[in-house]
Amino acid sequence: MTKGTYAFECPPVVSVAIQGSDTRFPVRRIYCVGRNYAEHIREMGADERQKPFFFQKPRDAIVGNGGSVPYPPFTEDFQYEIELVLAIGKSGTDIAVEDAGAHVFGIATGIDLTRRDRQIEARKAGRPWEVGKSFDASAPIGDILPLNGGALPVRGALSLRVNDEVRQSADIADMIWNSAEIVSQLSRHYALEAGDLIYTGTPAGVGPIFPGDKVVGEVEGIGSLAITVTDPVN
Ligand code: MN
Repeated sequence: MTKGTYAFECPPVVSVAIQGSDTRFPVRRIYCVGRNYAEHIREMGADERQKPFFFQKPRDAIVGNGGSVPYPPFTEDFQYEIELVLAIGKSGTDIAVEDAGAHVFGIATGIDLTRRDRQIEARKAGRPWEVGKSFDASAPIGDILPLNGGALPVRGALSLRVNDEVRQSADIADMIWNSAEIVSQLSRHYALEAGDLIYTGTPAGVGPIFPGDKVVGEVEGIGSLAITVTDPVN
């Protein structure tokens, strides 16, 4: 075998569509913020005075707009979380809040899918959240709206409907940490790189979804993201 070749076919590049462009956004990492809207913290029974924190999902968990999400294994409480997503376009560490916008390529509507029963078990046991958060197809995202040097949004309605019934309705102005603060804080934990996505947390109203459900998330000014929950694969 020739030196430098791979033992098997390389995994495909995971990417997200960009609005108004033929090019796509190649995904490097997916970060998520836990606990960033006070009402959701209360509905989860946690202390809203705690600082938000970060966790990750695997990049191949991405599902694009219009995609299908098979009901995942190892759960009986599969839930949605509507979130504003920031798409990083410029690397940086220790980014100042006032410089954060320059590192953001664009914004998107996302849904942080969650195996809530597994997440709560892990939380109670003091274990990592991966089993509840970082499973296959757990990161739907709509087409990215480029900022083109424009400011990060500080307000705008976000909502989620299941089969045309509104389940979540809030405003990104209600975030405890705003987008610039999240980029700044995360860049103190990790070196941010172009291709990173940051799901910025969900407001109140989370709940279960089932095979056959059509889930539509929307963030004002960005556009909607529709997914369909399908039967389990296995
Ligand atoms: Mn979330």
